[in-house]
Amino acid sequence: FGMAAFINKEKAYLNKRLLTEVGYYLPSARINKRSPPPDHNNDYAFLKIEGANFPANIQASISHEILKKPNFHLIGNESFDTSQFGYQTPSGRPIQITMVYGGSQTKLIFQIKDAFTGMHHCVQACKGIIEACCDSLNRMANQIRYLKYFIGIPCSAVNDASHYVYFNDDSDLCQACKRRTSHDTFFCRNCWISAAKMCNKLRKEEDHHLTFSDLSQVVQDVAEKNMISMLRKKLNVDIHKATKSYQEDRQLMEALMKWETKQSSPRHSLIKILHEMQLNHTADKLKLHVPITSP
Ligand SMILES: [Zn+2]
Ligand SMILES: [Zn+2]
Repeated sequence: FGMAAFINKEKAYLNKRLLTEVGYYLPSARINKRSPPPDHNNDYAFLKIEGANFPANIQASISHEILKKPNFHLIGNESFDTSQFGYQTPSGRPIQITMVYGGSQTKLIFQIKDAFTGMHHCVQACKGIIEACCDSLNRMANQIRYLKYFIGIPCSAVNDASHYVYFNDDSDLCQACKRRTSHDTFFCRNCWISAAKMCNKLRKEEDHHLTFSDLSQVVQDVAEKNMISMLRKKLNVDIHKATKSYQEDRQLMEALMKWETKQSSPRHSLIKILHEMQLNHTADKLKLHVPITSP
């Protein structure tokens, strides 16, 4: 085994002792112990990787990205499939994040050592981890074709079911998981969900933009209902002077295309607007996945 990462001296701790060596062996280079199972069966999020070729050195690459972020440091541990990181909150209360690697699925778990650690700090820590995963996997995706990755959670209602979470979008969650009532039991999971929704690197691929035919469909439906000016008002974008002499539906099309470029999650946002206008049937045409019904 020769896989070692060179990391900043101040960032490497082993059993609370600052390491003197700059070179530090990564967990996957160790062969002795498998990690113990986590305390709560369902209280975690996961990073799922799909691809024709499984990328190598995921553990090293993600660890490297995490340690580039402020407030994160590596905590030494003895299991080969686990990386542990500490996240220092402004108040000094540490948060510990554990990543258990297992093939295409990596478990993301965190523990707080102090009950007064605010949830928003936990969410910030989770966000840092997710961003690091996105950064390292996006770079790998440039080299490996068909590499896809997702952040997901196990379903709280249905055994063996799970949901993916995206930036600004939790539409894949079932009703039970959306409600998130069992707050204490699923504290960790809930923090990951909140963090994923805040992480703009975690975009739902199909959500990047609406197709021209999506927009044409919307314009057609809205025109039929005589609601063009209402939608124009909701979009609240100025269109080019020259376009103002065009037909109303062409003006709306231009407004929609201009509006789309300003949205982080255009498909999701347009569906929301259409629902506000009671155009539920049109909104449904834009939905990509049939939502999972509540169990
Ligand atoms: Zn605070
Ligand atoms: Zn669910």
